[in-house]
Amino acid sequence: MREWENNIRKVTPYTPGEQPKQSNVIKLNTNENPYPPSPMVLDALRQMTTETMRKYPDPTAWELVTAIAEEYQMRPEQVFVGVGSDDVLAMCFLTFFNSQKPILFPDITYSFYDVWADLFRIPYECPPLNENFEIVKEDYYKENGGVIFPNPNAPTGVQMPLADIEEILRHNQDVIVIVDEAYIDFGGISARGLLEKYENLLVVQTFSKSHCMAGMRIGYAFGSEELIRHLNDVKYSFNSYTMNEAAIRLGAAAIHDSMYLKETRRKIMATREYAKKELAQLGFSFTDSQANFLFVTHESCPARELFEALKAAGIYVRYFDKPRIDNYLRITIGTDEEMDALYSFLRRYLKR
Ligand code: PMP
Repeated sequence: MREWENNIRKVTPYTPGEQPKQSNVIKLNTNENPYPPSPMVLDALRQMTTETMRKYPDPTAWELVTAIAEEYQMRPEQVFVGVGSDDVLAMCFLTFFNSQKPILFPDITYSFYDVWADLFRIPYECPPLNENFEIVKEDYYKENGGVIFPNPNAPTGVQMPLADIEEILRHNQDVIVIVDEAYIDFGGISARGLLEKYENLLVVQTFSKSHCMAGMRIGYAFGSEELIRHLNDVKYSFNSYTMNEAAIRLGAAAIHDSMYLKETRRKIMATREYAKKELAQLGFSFTDSQANFLFVTHESCPARELFEALKAAGIYVRYFDKPRIDNYLRITIGTDEEMDALYSFLRRYLKR
């Protein structure tokens, strides 16, 4: 054994959903929005010049920070931005989870949490979801080094009532509590309203889903001025220029088009509710997802088989080979046309 190998930080990385090279697939595997971003984004893109690329971006990303603050009626000092919410969340883990006590997150949840915990050597415990895939709030009342969960949860789509989130906050005033709201715009109720009351709360959101801009990598967090200051201190100790100039400008353009956001959300939610009816008729059962995906299991056909069959037919969905969920598929809500192609394939395959 070579001595230096002992000094390498060895990690098991997160596995993102596949981004197929061919363009003729129906891509329902990474919870992207099937619609383009607001036309305002294209206008802002046209105004970019090589001069805007030559210089370093503003390290404070002030244009984007103030646009987000204005849209959500917050002070800019309460807003942190990063390269997708993955970057924001990683910075949160690094900044706020430094206790010897384990942090808590559900056994079935966003599969990046345990990767960051391992990377940063943060101890963690994963209280199991109940049989309906719901977070059991009482499991979070014990001593811990911090709490994080998505709402709605991923990959289940299950939303936790705001009153339960407040109960978790009430029992956890000595640690930082992070609510990851990547999917909040598809019918959920944001915990943003609790920020005034709980200075230890952070609410994390993203442009990747409801704003149709996964490729631009823009995420943000709301929190008390103190928490945001600590996050920025860590960010500036790591990389001053995380947000590129295009992301700053295009993000600021998108956030102000609230009419477009409203209409895109409406379309996704309408398609999702219709999908629930279609899939039920095809023998699937699922949680009452409030996200832009459904988490489904079939009464007779194993999920892994369906996943392979769909992929062979050019329809990509997500399969997690993990305990408790290895007979489920996560299907992103696409356009009505994409979903129709999914239903007709399933009808043929399942002979219904
Ligand atoms: N949180 C959850 C729960 C997610 O599912 C995702 C999407 N993979 C993210 C955060 C990160 O999204 P992004 O980095 O694109 O903002």
